[in-house]
Amino acid sequence: MGGTFDPIHYGHLSVAEQARCTFRLHQVAFIPSGNPPHKERRETADPEHRYLMTVLATSANPRFAVSRVELDRKGPSYAIDTVRFYLNLHKDLSPQIFFITGIDAVMEILTWRSPEEFLSLCTIISATRPGYDAGKLRTILGDNLFRKIKMLEAPALAISSTDIRSRICKGLPIKYLLPESVEHYIYKNRLYNDKTFK
Ligand code: NAP
Repeated sequence: MGGTFDPIHYGHLSVAEQARCTFRLHQVAFIPSGNPPHKERRETADPEHRYLMTVLATSANPRFAVSRVELDRKGPSYAIDTVRFYLNLHKDLSPQIFFITGIDAVMEILTWRSPEEFLSLCTIISATRPGYDAGKLRTILGDNLFRKIKMLEAPALAISSTDIRSRICKGLPIKYLLPESVEHYIYKNRLYNDKTFK
């Protein structure tokens, strides 16, 4: 489960649990992104804050884990390196790896490092809101690559990290959009008060 998690919210948690049940996954590892290579990034909260919020949010689910693999790796974070890391970690089991992320990120997959090889090493689960038209993704990827992607509709994805950051900036409530422990962590550490986080 790859993402910036800035901050993690119930949309992410619900996608992960839905994917776990639908695809019968043994475990879902949440992997906060380290140093994304792909685009001019907006400023994000400190990686250690994003990591700790992810740990707080996932701690109650025994099938969820949080990985520091992208945070601790030097240089740009390529998803293909992360998948290779997991294949190597469990090589004795020949695991089937699924890479779960949001469809907006999947739209840009052709700009990622070695996209075709990446798609041969793992199955992508692309999380969308119900009713989302995946036609644009099919056009971008072409039928052959598109066929390799599993779509997962998740109603809770109406929640977004962008909206949560914006709400904090405007002094609006964020209660019930993310776990209470994460809400408290954000306020205690005064995250996202600044308009640069919008
Ligand atoms: P992003 O631009 O921060 O997010 C794009 C959209 O996808 C946002 O709407 C976001 O919603 C949603 N999203 C992100 N992660 C999600 C998740 N796990 N479940 C559901 N929705 C999700 O995308 P990003 O976080 O940078 O990238 C996503 C993943 O792709 C990361 O693991 C990243 O490392 C990987 N990636 C790899 C490469 C590469 O290898 N070259 C390049 C780009 C991205 P929220 O804002 O609400 O999360």
